[in-house]
Amino acid sequence: TEEALLQSQKMEAVGQLTGGIAHDFNNLLTGIVGSLDLLQTRLNQGRTDNVARYIEAAMTSANRAAALTHRLLAFARRQPLIPKSVDANRLVVSLEDLLRRTIGETIDLSVVASNGLWNTLCDPNQLESALLNLAINARDAMPDGGKLTISTANARIDGVTADTPALSPGDYVCIEVTDTGTGMSAEVAARAFDPFFTTKPIGQGTGLGLSMIYGFARQSNGHATIDSKLGRGTSVRLYLPRHRSDAVTEHASAAGTAAHAA
Ligand code: ADP
Repeated sequence: TEEALLQSQKMEAVGQLTGGIAHDFNNLLTGIVGSLDLLQTRLNQGRTDNVARYIEAAMTSANRAAALTHRLLAFARRQPLIPKSVDANRLVVSLEDLLRRTIGETIDLSVVASNGLWNTLCDPNQLESALLNLAINARDAMPDGGKLTISTANARIDGVTADTPALSPGDYVCIEVTDTGTGMSAEVAARAFDPFFTTKPIGQGTGLGLSMIYGFARQSNGHATIDSKLGRGTSVRLYLPRHRSDAVTEHASAAGTAAHAA
């Protein structure tokens, strides 16, 4: 069945993820053991040359290994989704102050809230953290300032589109976060959603932001896409499924009419 297929794909992804981490971790351990080994040889020979260097190298590898497990734990701690009917316009507007403080004064934030926006069914906390993460990425991509635009729109998907091949036809709410920053090369854009992929220095990037956003969108039965041009900027779109809250109301009013007629 489709669910079994999804499950096996998930297991495969987890396998690749843990395989990759185990590999990195092993490399770091090899580095630590190698440095300690050299250190031991020196000390056994009663020499002190390069001792500080070997200690330093072992420390660096150990710190990297610690950072790796830290990231893995943070990834594993992800909270379960609690979907609700969400007015994305209201959510974005309520985040505006926090977003402004996050991106600082050199970046100009504008929110373009579309009229008549459908409600969406998703976990509002996860959506907030996704938007915050996107704003932080945008800030990092605009060290000399720029413009950050968050816009919302209804999106009716009729068939397979180039932008959203993985999205089944239906109604979605699209939240787009656009910056005028450095942009990404095609190679970086292709890997940006991968867990632990980062171009930022160690300690600054976890490489988990976009992968968590992608996971959130997919688990919400939606999708996330990146559109980026080097030197021009980046747009990340979140497609989240429409929540037909009016279906409940229609049902209720139909029942009301029937009761009235009787
Ligand atoms: P992190 O921000 O910790 O590196 P992410 O998963 O959020 O992890 O992003 C992965 C990579 O994608 C970043 O290291 C960066 O190279 C690229 N990236 C993400 N957002 C943007 C953006 N708005 N502009 C340019 N590059 C970006």
